[in-house]
Amino acid sequence: MVKYVCIKCGKEFDESELAVMLSIRCPYCGYRVIAKARGSDIKILKAV
Ligand SMILES: [Zn+2]
Repeated sequence: MVKYVCIKCGKEFDESELAVMLSIRCPYCGYRVIAKARGSDIKILKAV
């Protein structure tokens, strides 16, 4: 399962929570740079 982590506030959330935001954005603080963690592979995502 893919997890997302906000790089600003450090909260973790999943794809369904991200979908509610309709964009790549932290559902807790609204920060637009999050990390996508799939297993041990972590990728930084930036909203454009
Ligand atoms: Zn956040």
